[in-house]
Amino acid sequence: MKGGVRRSKESRTVLIIGAGMGGLTAAALLLKAGWRVIVLEAQTYPGGCAGTFFHRGYRFDAGATLAGGFDLTGPHTRLAQTLGLTWPVEDVDPAWVVHLDGHQIYQWTTREAWREERVRYFAKEEPFWQTQERVAEVAWAISQRYFPWPPLNLSDLLALAGTVTPAVIGMAPLAFRSVADLLPRSASPRLRTFVDAQLLISAQTTAGFANALYGSAALDLPRRGVRYVRGGMGELAKTLVAWIHAHGGEVHYRHPIEAVVVRRGRAVAVVTKAGATFEADLILANMTPWSLSHLLNGEMPVSLRRDVRRRSPTWGAFTLYVGVRAEALPSTVPTHHQVILDPSAPLGEGNSVFISISPVEDPTRAPAGMRAITLSTHTAVAPWWQLDPEAYLQRREVYTQRLLEALEAVFPGIKTALHLCLPATPRTFAFYTRRWQGMVGGFPQTSLWRARGPQTGIPNLWLVGDSVFPGQSTAGVILGAARVVAHLLGQPILV
Ligand SMILES: Cc1cc2nc3c(=O)[nH]c(=O)nc-3n(C[C@H](O)[C@H](O)[C@H](O)COP(=O)(O)OP(=O)(O)OC[C@H]3O[C@@H](n4cnc5c(N)ncnc54)[C@H](O)[C@@H]3O)c2cc1C
Repeated sequence: MKGGVRRSKESRTVLIIGAGMGGLTAAALLLKAGWRVIVLEAQTYPGGCAGTFFHRGYRFDAGATLAGGFDLTGPHTRLAQTLGLTWPVEDVDPAWVVHLDGHQIYQWTTREAWREERVRYFAKEEPFWQTQERVAEVAWAISQRYFPWPPLNLSDLLALAGTVTPAVIGMAPLAFRSVADLLPRSASPRLRTFVDAQLLISAQTTAGFANALYGSAALDLPRRGVRYVRGGMGELAKTLVAWIHAHGGEVHYRHPIEAVVVRRGRAVAVVTKAGATFEADLILANMTPWSLSHLLNGEMPVSLRRDVRRRSPTWGAFTLYVGVRAEALPSTVPTHHQVILDPSAPLGEGNSVFISISPVEDPTRAPAGMRAITLSTHTAVAPWWQLDPEAYLQRREVYTQRLLEALEAVFPGIKTALHLCLPATPRTFAFYTRRWQGMVGGFPQTSLWRARGPQTGIPNLWLVGDSVFPGQSTAGVILGAARVVAHLLGQPILV
């Protein structure tokens, strides 16, 4: 389509910019609803932050490594039932192991095992966990219904009213409180650090800031259907692409979009880097509001301009993709680990590190005799953009060593078994995912009242992805995208 204009014969064509999990979910659901669907992706493979890339015989998960939300009523399960597809997943237990203060705390997936575990480490704080579980039960029950938050119109308000039960009314005050408000004053430093570390990876913020309803639900993630994806996380996106292709939709790789064309207040087309124009009735942008604002150039609506100016930057990620000789690891080692090196120091910036190891049972992930490991830590994006090339490389090396130290803390001696080690900074994420400044993971879930909806200020241009409530994770973006499609169709879409 170089330089040409692609005009659809049908009246209802939707263009989706980006083949992340949010874009692909929306694409599949709109295809099912009868729309003509075209997905345009800059990269050569789908999945974005939840993609898996190939490098020298390894299949490394680029960002997301842990697939949650596959229990009976979880977002992945509901999407699979709606579309009639099967995910290539297997059970994992424990969900992950937290290495804190010389202890290994197992996040077991069954409630009974987890209760025994937490009593072992947080014996005096059982009332906190019981409250958290009660709140989580209500919050997850709400998420299983159509919950168009934040509301965009009267019908959203009516749908929200339909989710109100006596249990929800009982929990309503928690909409104004933080997880820290649920912790006892006497909570031990170990409990506080543990809860902070869990919330940082699941709500993008710590207990003092995480909304109590959202945060309680997030703390329950290990008990909500965690799975291992065969072939790496990117297979979730590939499963959706295969479904879209099989049902007549189009997914085009190597199609970076440089501009969204707006005429008389409506988005009418997108233009690729190569100069091709695709016209459509509806456009969904699988990106952050900042990234979208750069595609709109002079046509940015006032509300979007205000939004990107007022909101603080979100987290970035520093990741390390490591190939190791398999004999350096026990063959039955749990797949995921979270390491807190210094419990008295702030989390992120290499002090808390998530480590995911390809299982021996999945030979597709690494060359024979090797295993693929992805390590990641939260990092502020701004400093990575303020450095000259030499200082940047120095900083990258410092973070590389910090993450290797975390790996070594869990598996002593592993550094001698390294085969390759690739670092990625927010600059790398900006390059590969086109997320402005490499901001990843969506907005911290601090206040339900500041939650961002999918609106852009242009009536036929919508955001999907982790900038939209309920935010980060493959499960979160499935729910967010399903909400946008339901809004467009005027009825809930997930079974
Ligand atoms: C280090 C890290 C670890 C994480 N760990 C987990 C985890 O364990 N479990 C979990 O569930 N979640 C995790 N997450 C979060 C999860 O990966 C994301 O929330 C989710 O994948 C985001 O999906 P998305 O649809 O918002 O878009 P993205 O994943 O950002 O995908 C957007 C896609 O759009 C494309 N695109 C963007 N702009 C353009 C353009 N102009 N033209 C064409 N294409 C474009 C990009 O190339 C990309 O493919 C992690 C994230 C990171 C960064």
